[in-house]
Amino acid sequence: MANCVFCKIASGEIVSKIVYSDEIAVAFRDQNPQAPTHILFIPRKHVPSLSDLSSEDEAVLGHIVRVASQVAETEGVSESGYRLVANCGPNAGQSVDHVHFHLLGGRRFAWPPG
Ligand code: AMP
Repeated sequence: MANCVFCKIASGEIVSKIVYSDEIAVAFRDQNPQAPTHILFIPRKHVPSLSDLSSEDEAVLGHIVRVASQVAETEGVSESGYRLVANCGPNAGQSVDHVHFHLLGGRRFAWPPG
């Protein structure tokens, strides 16, 4: 997708702090971290939001969740706990239209979220 910042990160056109990469997914540090650990996980395939996912994306999503749990382990937040969240649409505050999951850890989070 030509004008998508996350597609450009996945292709290397925009430099980011990559923490994981394979043929399906990429993970990189959020440029505006909201917790000591704040990593974004994206599929390489451009899908604008969770609302646009199709059945053929199921394996990709499962892969991303598994990779996120592995990265949480290497980041040292597995035992203390972490949050894996995806914002979808205006009410959730989605600001980049490429499906992504936030891995947040290293501090305690409130529930329900604001
Ligand atoms: P959301 O608000 O859920 O759509 O999350 C988008 C996230 O992407 C925000 O936390 C931003 O800080 C982050 N972000 C946007 N552009 C970049 C970038 N070039 N590198 C790293 N993180 C980014």
